[in-house]
Amino acid sequence: MQKIPKPKSWLKIGDHLVRNPEYGKWYRLTHRKQMDSYQKSYRQRNRTRIEQYKKNWRKSKREEIISLLGSKCIKCGNSEKEVLQIDHIKGGGTKLFKKYGTELYSKILREIKNGSKDYQLLCGNCNIKKAIERGERSSWN
Ligand SMILES: [Zn+2]
Repeated sequence: MQKIPKPKSWLKIGDHLVRNPEYGKWYRLTHRKQMDSYQKSYRQRNRTRIEQYKKNWRKSKREEIISLLGSKCIKCGNSEKEVLQIDHIKGGGTKLFKKYGTELYSKILREIKNGSKDYQLLCGNCNIKKAIERGERSSWN
């Protein structure tokens, strides 16, 4: 363990007390372990917060798109938000998602607001039926 004399934490300049920059240096040198573990836990806490933020952001974009598209399945009228899926009429949604990732929601939203008719709402069931009809998915029959 390095032994470094502890500098004064405050300096008196005229009538003012200011933080001594040497003290900060000393603290970082002598408390390296604490600083490291503090930073690590800070990063971890932050990551959870960022993940949460992204999740909320996607959720709010998705809800905005759903409400713009009429909030119900265009085939059967199901309006349960949990099962509604944003469907690209011409297909290729998976490919688009791979290309744009979470940005896709912004892109779809922008297109719908600009009058695009390329998107529709389908519930999970109708989406599967559509995929079977198009031969993109095998049927049990
Ligand atoms: Zn449906």
